[in-house]
Amino acid sequence: MWRFYLKEGEDRQITFLDGELDAEGMLDIFMFYEHNVRVNGDWQQFVCTSDVDQTQPCPICEKGERSSFVGVMTIIDHSEYVIKKGPNAGKKVANQRKLFVAKQGTIKHLTKLAAKRGGLAGCTFDVSRTGDKEPGVGNQYDFVQKFDSYEEIAAKYGMKVEDVHPANYAEEIRFRSPEELIELGVGKALGGPGFEKGASNVKDEL
Ligand SMILES: [Zn+2]
Repeated sequence: MWRFYLKEGEDRQITFLDGELDAEGMLDIFMFYEHNVRVNGDWQQFVCTSDVDQTQPCPICEKGERSSFVGVMTIIDHSEYVIKKGPNAGKKVANQRKLFVAKQGTIKHLTKLAAKRGGLAGCTFDVSRTGDKEPGVGNQYDFVQKFDSYEEIAAKYGMKVEDVHPANYAEEIRFRSPEELIELGVGKALGGPGFEKGASNVKDEL
């Protein structure tokens, strides 16, 4: 699935498919640490391993890269998009389901909006990004309406009900092991004299 992203000055309309509030009034969403790394000129995201695998350091952190604590939700991006490449080039598509991955500043902002609306799921917003320093998911959220069910959203936009549901985050947010990250060349290889792979594993089990 693609991630939702706005260019500076862009406006879009989106509908959240999840983002309920928990008993403490916080957004009940999947949160994780993520690295944004440039690979062959393109920005790619990798889950920081330090939170998940404490037996060894995260190879991307070891390179001196910082991670961001992010939360993920699923939206429908209502904007029309013209396919640029491939057999469907020139075809217009709209209402694509996308991952909405945001840092803490945006999550705080959205938590306030969610409190007003009884959760974000089903809420449609006009979203704008007013400057290049603003978050890639936009910084201005103007409430439009709230749907009561996925069926209602599907009916309004002529979508199949099975396409109107939150993503499977275990599949979409791919965890790569430290070994895999090193193999991909995005992390610092650990090794050299005195380095014993798995030594800390043993310690943890004792
Ligand atoms: Zn890391």
